[in-house]
Amino acid sequence: MAAAVTTAAITDGVTSSRKDTRLKDSLEIRLSPLPQTKAAENNGNNKHEKKEEKQKDENNTANTVNEKSEAAVEVGPDKTQGRYNLRRRKDDGDAKPVETKPKQLGEKDAKLAAAPAASLATPLDFGGKIGAYFWLLFLPAWVLFLVLQVNLEDPSLTNFPPPLPALEAFWDAQALGFVILWILFQALLYILPVGKVSEKSLELNKLINASFCAVAVSSLAVAAAVHQGVDLTYIHSHFLQLTAASFLVAVLLSVYLYVRSQYAAGEQLALGGSSGNVAYDFFKGHELNPRIKEFDLKFFCEMRPGLIGWCLINFAMALAEMKQQGLDAPSYSMILVNLFQLLYVVDGLWNEEAILTTMDLMHDGFGFMLAFGDLVWVPFTYTLQAYYLVSHPNHLSLPAVAAIVTLKLVGFYIFRKSNSEKNAFRRNPSDPKLSHLQIIPTATGKSLLVSGWWGVVRHPNYLGDLLMALAWSLPCGFSHLLPWYYMIYFIILLVHRDARDMSECRRKYGSAWDEYCRTVRYRIIPRVY
Ligand code: NDP
Repeated sequence: MAAAVTTAAITDGVTSSRKDTRLKDSLEIRLSPLPQTKAAENNGNNKHEKKEEKQKDENNTANTVNEKSEAAVEVGPDKTQGRYNLRRRKDDGDAKPVETKPKQLGEKDAKLAAAPAASLATPLDFGGKIGAYFWLLFLPAWVLFLVLQVNLEDPSLTNFPPPLPALEAFWDAQALGFVILWILFQALLYILPVGKVSEKSLELNKLINASFCAVAVSSLAVAAAVHQGVDLTYIHSHFLQLTAASFLVAVLLSVYLYVRSQYAAGEQLALGGSSGNVAYDFFKGHELNPRIKEFDLKFFCEMRPGLIGWCLINFAMALAEMKQQGLDAPSYSMILVNLFQLLYVVDGLWNEEAILTTMDLMHDGFGFMLAFGDLVWVPFTYTLQAYYLVSHPNHLSLPAVAAIVTLKLVGFYIFRKSNSEKNAFRRNPSDPKLSHLQIIPTATGKSLLVSGWWGVVRHPNYLGDLLMALAWSLPCGFSHLLPWYYMIYFIILLVHRDARDMSECRRKYGSAWDEYCRTVRYRIIPRVY
C-alpha cells in the first residue's frame, strides 16, 4: 500500500504543478478588467457558450466546468471581493445559500455542469491494472500474516514469518456456518422497517438510524446467547477459521458483484471501476450501488456485518482475556480498547446518514476492495489490539488511563464536530447556524467551506480519526509493533485517501478547488502536513 500511496503522491504532485501553471495562465487572462455592464455579461456568456460547445465536441467536460466556474464568478454579485465570496455569509444580510445558483442556470448550463459525472473516465487508482493483481494477492496474504503473527507468544518482527499452519487448519464448516448465520441475522435486521427516510437517503430508498437499532438488537441477542451459556471465546480460539470463512464469503460476493455488473445499465456503473480490465474492475468495483430489489448490498456490507461484528469480536476478546488470565474483570487496557472502538462504531451507526456522502458510497463501485474491506479487513484486523491483549497484558496506571482517555476524547471531538459541520452544510447550506462560515462557490452549485473546521486543514476529520487511532494503540504498550499496526496502516490509508479525494475534488470543482487549496494550505495536520 505504501507503494501505491507513494505513486499517488508523486502523480498528485506532478499533475498539481501542471495544473497550477494552467491555472496561472487562465488567471492572468481572467484578471484583465471586464466591462461590468449587463450587455458585456451577456456577451461574456455567449462567448462562453461557444467555448463550451467546442469543448463539448472535444469531450473535455472537466475544463468546461472550470470555465463555468470562472464565468460564474465573473458575473457574480460580489465582484468587489475578488473571485470568491470569502466573507462571512451572515454579513451578506440574508445569508443566501450559494447552492441556489444552479437553479438560476439555464437547462443547458445545468446539463453541462452535471456532464462530467456521466462522461469522464477517472484515472486508474491503486497502481492501475498491474496494481489490481498485486492488491488481490497482497491483501489476503497480509491479513493472514497479521492473524498468524498476533497468535504467536512473541509476535515481534524477529519471529517473521510466522509458521504456516497446514491447509486443513483454515477450514472449519462450523466457523463458516457462524459467519453465514451472522450475515443472515444482520440482513434480517436490515430489512426490518425500522428507522426514518431522510432527504439524502431517499436516493438509496434507505431507512436511516436503523443501523443503530441493529447494533442495539445485536447486543441484546449476544447478551441472551451468553446468558444461555454460549461460549464466545470460540471467536478467539477459531479466529483463523472465522477469518478464512469470511474471506470465502467476500470472494464469492465479489464474483457475484462482478458478474451482475456486466448486466447493469451504464448509469449504474462506477466511474472508477469501469476501465474494461477484468482484474481492475473486479477489484475496484464495476457497479456503484448494486441492489437486489430494495436491498442495497454496498450500504448493508459497509454498515452492518463487519462493523457490528468488530464490536462482537472485541467483546469476545475481553471474555477470552478473563478466561486466559484468570481475571474477574477485563484489564483496563482491554476495557479502553473495547470502549473506544465501541464508541467509534456506535457513533458511525448513529450518524449513519453521513455515510451517504462518503467516497465509498458516492464514488467507489462495489467490488472486491470494499467487500473484502467490509467483511474481512475491518472485523479481523481492527480487532488485533483486543486480540493482542488477550495474551499480552499491559498494565496501565490510572494517570495513564486518564491521559489516554483525554486523547481519545479530543480526537473524537475534532472528528465528530468536523464531520457534522460538513454534513450539516451539505444537507442545508443555508442553515442559519452555519451562516458565520465562509465559503467558496463552485460551478457545480455546491460550495466549499473555507473557515470553521474545514478552514483549519483540508481534512480535519482525518486528524481527529488519527488521534483516536493513537488512543487505541497506546493501551497495548510498546513491547511490540503489532498493536501499532492499525495506527501505521491508518496513516497510510488516510494520506492516500486524501490524495484520491484531492484529485476527485479537483476534477469536480476545477479552479474553485485550487483556490480552496491555496487558502487552506495544510491537508491533515496544521503546519506539518
Ligand atoms: P470526507 O468525509 O472527508 O469527504 C470528502 C468529501 O467532502 C469531498 O469529496 C467533498 O465532497 C467534501 N468536501 C471536501 N472539502 C470540503 C469543504 N471544504 N467544504 C465542503 N465539503 C467538502 O471523506 P471520507 O469519506 O474519506 O471520510 C469520512 C469519514 O470516515 C472521515 O472521518 C474518515 O476519517 C473516516 N474514515 C474512516 C476509515 C476507517 O477505516 N476507520 C476509513 C475511511 C474513512 P462533496 O463536495 O462532493 O460533498
